[in-house]
Amino acid sequence: MRAARYFGPRDFRLVEVERPVPARGEVLLRVRAAGLCHSDLHIIYDELGGYPIPAPLTLGHEICGEAVELGEGVSDIELGRRYAVFGPVGCGHCRYCRSGRDNLCSESRWMGIARDGGYAEYVTVPAQALVPVPERVGDAEAAVATDAVLTSYHALVTVGRLEPGQGVAVIGVGGLGLNAVQIASALGAVVLALDIDERKLELARQHGAAVVLDSRQLDPQKPPLDRPISLVADFVGNDQTKLLAQQLVERGGRVVLVGLGSVGGPLAALRDIAEEIAVLGSFWGTRLELATVLDLIARGIVRPRVETHPLDEILTWVERLRAGAVEGRVAFVP
Ligand SMILES: [Zn+2]
Ligand SMILES: [Zn+2]
Repeated sequence: MRAARYFGPRDFRLVEVERPVPARGEVLLRVRAAGLCHSDLHIIYDELGGYPIPAPLTLGHEICGEAVELGEGVSDIELGRRYAVFGPVGCGHCRYCRSGRDNLCSESRWMGIARDGGYAEYVTVPAQALVPVPERVGDAEAAVATDAVLTSYHALVTVGRLEPGQGVAVIGVGGLGLNAVQIASALGAVVLALDIDERKLELARQHGAAVVLDSRQLDPQKPPLDRPISLVADFVGNDQTKLLAQQLVERGGRVVLVGLGSVGGPLAALRDIAEEIAVLGSFWGTRLELATVLDLIARGIVRPRVETHPLDEILTWVERLRAGAVEGRVAFVP
């Protein structure tokens, strides 16, 4: 079968590999769609601060597929049914998994990052990572739900503790940030969208942002919203946006760092301490939240913007994403 594999820094290619066989507790999925993520770029271009990535490895951690073969000991999965894959997997028995914080499981091997992912015709997945896809949710939507929607939801609701009526700033309204704008406005927040790309800002306006601004034109003397900003979600995560986030947030507010733009850089400023600004990391989301976001999509509350392309074009789209030329999200169909 065809698979897009990482062989080492800057060496990412389409190759032929054997179709995998599901081990005990695993399910073989025929991939119906797999979403492209900025994290893939960070892996391919060696921008994860030395975080170890095994090679060769099939990338692709946003997966929707159809169950076609069950490994030994799997009983609660229906053949022919569509499933979304919970990328962080979770071992199911450590203290994090048992308390529902399975995104923090220390024993699991993440899909497309630590074990072969979905840029292929078939992929094997531990059965506990599969979440049924509601009928009204399309393949590509389900794929991007597993990260581009899930990560935004987790950052705003669980880590950010968003409440209706709050002022919320979303920095970076690309693939994830645009979903964050939709989720925050659907939950009753008043959203400020910041980016440096006019087209992305226009999309954010169409998807519910109350105010959109080019972050380079922000006037520090003039409050950008009609209310204090209680929560800032930074989906870029470079030094400039991290500082911007800390400047925007009100006293006692929360800054949630989601983007992996620069691992390192200035984190704590004096304001963080003297004004009790909580600066929090947010990672992916939980399996339970994945079921919730699939439901939000099924009900039309969140409409992920995603375009599909053949897997054979993946190298071109990796370049386009790197050049900032992708609006919303791209998913591949093998
Ligand atoms: Zn991702
Ligand atoms: Zn665990």
